[in-house]
Amino acid sequence: MVKRALNPVNRIIVIGGGIAGLSAAYYAARNSIQAEITLLESGSHWGGKIATERVDGFVIEGGPDTFLATKPWGAALCRELGLGERLHGTNPRQKSTYVLHRNRLQPLPDGLALMIPSDIPSILRSRLLSLPGKVRMGLDFLLPPRASDGDESLGAFISRRLGREAYENLIEPLMSGIYAGDGDQLSLASTFSYLRDLERSHGSLARGALAMRRKIPAAPGSRSAFLTPTTGLAEIVESLVQVLSARRVTLRLNAPVSLIMRHSSLYSLTLDTGETLTADAVIIAAPAFAAAKIVSSLDPGLGADLSAIPYASTATVSLAYRQSDLPRPLDGYGYVIPRREGRRALACTWTSTKFPHRAPDGHALIRVFVGRAGQTIPWNESDLLALAREELQQTLDITAKPILSRVFLWEKAMPQYNLGHPELLRRIEAALERHPGLALAGNGYRGIGIPDCIHSGELAVEKILNHKGHEGLRS
Ligand SMILES: Cc1cc2nc3c(=O)[nH]c(=O)nc-3n(C[C@H](O)[C@H](O)[C@H](O)COP(=O)(O)OP(=O)(O)OC[C@H]3O[C@@H](n4cnc5c(N)ncnc54)[C@H](O)[C@@H]3O)c2cc1C
Repeated sequence: MVKRALNPVNRIIVIGGGIAGLSAAYYAARNSIQAEITLLESGSHWGGKIATERVDGFVIEGGPDTFLATKPWGAALCRELGLGERLHGTNPRQKSTYVLHRNRLQPLPDGLALMIPSDIPSILRSRLLSLPGKVRMGLDFLLPPRASDGDESLGAFISRRLGREAYENLIEPLMSGIYAGDGDQLSLASTFSYLRDLERSHGSLARGALAMRRKIPAAPGSRSAFLTPTTGLAEIVESLVQVLSARRVTLRLNAPVSLIMRHSSLYSLTLDTGETLTADAVIIAAPAFAAAKIVSSLDPGLGADLSAIPYASTATVSLAYRQSDLPRPLDGYGYVIPRREGRRALACTWTSTKFPHRAPDGHALIRVFVGRAGQTIPWNESDLLALAREELQQTLDITAKPILSRVFLWEKAMPQYNLGHPELLRRIEAALERHPGLALAGNGYRGIGIPDCIHSGELAVEKILNHKGHEGLRS
């Protein structure tokens, strides 16, 4: 690698210090060691939606609690940061997940492959579906694949293949829940496009899921699909901040960017304080609605498309109990709540079963996830706590007062990849072509999970470094 003398105009600025922005700064520093890199975060802490509290022996995650191992970018970054040995899977001994159905918890059928139930005897035994619902599900083996190529909603697709009952009782809470979304609005192409591929390649969703299940090793002790560091996802954030500081990346908290403009080949950024900074390349890793405001003068059309990506607000409430205060064992990862049940909670994770090391012996940690697209929820801590306790009382008969509770409010946190999202992305990408050296990263575009966000940061760096005229940024 040839090192050239530092050219002071070789500046990269990353806007937004969530996992996408931190990753972008990390890959920029790794791949472009000569550039001056600055990371600007509007808030007073790093990590964005990653918010871990360690208190009295509990590890409480306010935002994400784990990441998908099958998308390689999360584990790969952890290994680079030296966290590989600290990654834990979920508890392999008590893996059940339940679904709330007519106010009672029913086990999810076994053999989920890519979130599609593929164990036929288990489906036949399940109380989540009526007999006609099961027969309708079976029709998936006979129905021909859809001929036309256009996008459709997740709800329409699953209902077409497996029937509306299977969608509402089984698939909706699992899949829409990931986005806190409305499955009848979510774009299949932007969320679970592989399901359409399975339909095309195997002629049926269930046949495709069965084929995939055969490929996935099912041996006991096989690796978990989800990973998380020992004392929470903040370990990744803390490591990134440490590495970036060591690599002399300028890290600035409380530095909200209000505007970006272009003057010949340089971008000029204005902060809320009025301070201006210049850079050859800029990565905006703030949520799409914040990116929209930042670019609104530079490119009003791009701003309008970015602001058209809707976001849902959610909250999590974590509650700790003495085991002896719980009327029933928490014998699984928790439960999901179908939209049709009409509850205000979306899901409940039995954290101390899913990750036993996250609560001290003799204690249980539970997390209630509240809020979904199209639903309003109370927006203050005491009402949310009351709502979570009511949910636990109704479903798990827990009446004891928690020994500890934490409420996290996430306003406009979950982007909704609704029908039309692929077209929005195409327009956004075409607009970015007009602005060499400008790239977007983060959860608003091509994946909301942590590995996707990390990957988006890496791709944004690749894009700005590969751009003609910015060869000087690459080491
Ligand atoms: C409750 C909850 C649970 C979740 N669970 C999981 C899970 O278990 N697994 C998983 O993989 N994913 C999960 N997700 C999704 C995942 O956490 C997020 O998609 C991801 O963390 C988003 O990262 P990001 O960097 O794109 O955005 P953010 O984390 O939102 O970071 C963007 C940053 O930009 C900053 N910013 C905004 N405007 C400006 C500006 N003008 N100037 C400077 N900075 C600005 C913000 O302050 C913020 O820090 C969950 C999300 C939530 C809310």
